[in-house]
Amino acid sequence: MDLDAVRAKYDEEREKRLRADGNEQYIEPVGEFAHYLDDPYVPVAPREPLTDDVEFVFIGGGFAGLVTGARLKEAGIDDVRIIEKGGDFGGTWYWNRYPGAMCDTAAFIYMPLLEETGHMPSRKYTRAPEILEHSQRIGRHYDLYDNAVFSTEVTDLTWDQDAQHWIIRTNRGDQMRAKFVAMGTGPLHRPKLPGIEGIESFAGHSFHTSRWDYDYTGGDPSGAPLSNLANKRVGIIGTGATSVQCIPHLAASAGELFVFQRTPSSIDIRNNEDTDPEWFADLKPGWQQEWLVNFTTLQTGGFTDEDLVKDGWTDISQRIRDRVLANGDFSPEGMTQAYHDSDDEKMEEIRARVDAVVHDEATAEALKPWYRQLCKRPCFHDEYLDSFNRESVHLIDTDGQGVNRIDETGVFVGDEHYELDCLIYASGFEVGTSYERRSGFDAVGRNGQPLSEAWADGMTSLHGVHVHGFPNMFVVGPNQGANLISNVPHNLTERGRTIAAIVRHAVDTNAAEVETTAHAQGEWVAMLESGGRSFGNDPSCTPGYYNNEGKLDDGAGSRNFLGYPDGPVAYFEYIDGWRNSGDFDGLEFR
Ligand code: NDP
Repeated sequence: MDLDAVRAKYDEEREKRLRADGNEQYIEPVGEFAHYLDDPYVPVAPREPLTDDVEFVFIGGGFAGLVTGARLKEAGIDDVRIIEKGGDFGGTWYWNRYPGAMCDTAAFIYMPLLEETGHMPSRKYTRAPEILEHSQRIGRHYDLYDNAVFSTEVTDLTWDQDAQHWIIRTNRGDQMRAKFVAMGTGPLHRPKLPGIEGIESFAGHSFHTSRWDYDYTGGDPSGAPLSNLANKRVGIIGTGATSVQCIPHLAASAGELFVFQRTPSSIDIRNNEDTDPEWFADLKPGWQQEWLVNFTTLQTGGFTDEDLVKDGWTDISQRIRDRVLANGDFSPEGMTQAYHDSDDEKMEEIRARVDAVVHDEATAEALKPWYRQLCKRPCFHDEYLDSFNRESVHLIDTDGQGVNRIDETGVFVGDEHYELDCLIYASGFEVGTSYERRSGFDAVGRNGQPLSEAWADGMTSLHGVHVHGFPNMFVVGPNQGANLISNVPHNLTERGRTIAAIVRHAVDTNAAEVETTAHAQGEWVAMLESGGRSFGNDPSCTPGYYNNEGKLDDGAGSRNFLGYPDGPVAYFEYIDGWRNSGDFDGLEFR
């Protein structure tokens, strides 16, 4: 491997893709594009507006709401209502039902509350329908359906200081009151569309992957053939993690498939396997927590005796560790060198795999990723590359420029026009935009201050959970805490535990309000900033949502993605000690 040549190629490919408009290149699904958000799965059930009092309202019915609801119930807080815009629980797994959808993180650590609910994941990497069913299982197990409201979007969230509760208004005319609220509105839930000239003019059928139209394509989420596409010319824009999973299914069914690629994903080996029920039955109580800590330790550079999960995420970390040990150089420079060497080795393997699988040389060349593996979301698949060996599948590589125009009958790449019956947008979800744009409401705290104003210079919180000026409100996500991206639910289950402990304490001590102090919040953020551990934001990477589309953001954006300086495992240990101490240092109970 000529490393200088590889580096030069990385730079060259990155340069091609840099755009002045960054995140602004995408358009919001509003106005004439609002129909791309319509729920194709569950019809909206009519109901009367709610005007009642609830102890705890959780906004969002994905894993964040489910695990927090579960922990609250376990702590004896029964009056919990989850408000969800989808027609059922599941969050991302409610919306993403595209064929082939599956989770890239091993089910034993990704699916929360397995021991509590008694579920055995069927495979190491479970398909989306099983994860949706598991969400429903958690809902049933903890009686979270009883008080839930679905097909409902929060439009206003306002703190009423006199009454010491939150007022929640929705698009269904509700005006509820809640003593406590939590927001688990997810970092990747709002679909975005590529801002391609003429996108509004396409007269064929089109949809976003997170609202898959099975009425049009035929088939179903379990992978039945998309039989209605047999005589269709289908185009798909985007080749990220979503597209990688659905392309094999489209390729098997579509008359012709045109894959419009701007940047190839890295496709590592999947190697899925069924779960052995005897092995599963032998796992000792407490196993899931042990697996969670083991994975997080290994994936974030720590040492353990055994790799329990053994997957693509821990593989790269293992390689780095083995190199460091072999070199005996534990300095920061030695670690960085080991990281680069391991990455070079991994990416060479990934590019060699393309050559080994894809027959046509030019197609294989175009499918090779030229960037470091963690610059973009790594993908794992055993059928994706092979799809390009079918005669009906055409890789339309745009040399980093993307589709440049859409008209009534199809799309243009350069001057070349591709006629299409159906155009699928695998163009991803908003990440770098403001929280209120993504969640659809702006919480208004004490003295009428909107959260967007409190966070004008970026997220500011204690532990990623509490915001000064917003009493009795909790934020549930990875940010300003562990920031563990490879297994997001681990962040959520820990936050759920923390919130349940705080609410229990507030109820036991008859506190009407709980809020972090400005001082504690300031100290927490300063500590995070001094550590400089932030997700993504590496401007030397090829553009994508991992690095704010290649635009260095050293202000608000980078603050949002700050993580605990000593890493996720240390954060989880810290927060466990904090919530168990009973002192709740940094919070005021009034
Ligand atoms: P991504 O944001 O990863 O991908 C969007 C795609 O659209 C990119 O390939 C992008 O190209 C492309 N694109 C944008 N504009 C244009 C254009 N004008 N012309 C051509 N292509 C264009 O979205 P995904 O939905 O694929 O994935 C989002 C995230 O969801 C993942 O990163 C992952 O975190 C999660 N996910 C997880 C899965 C799992 O666990 N298995 C499965 C699916 C998703 P470019 O790369 O050049 O920007």
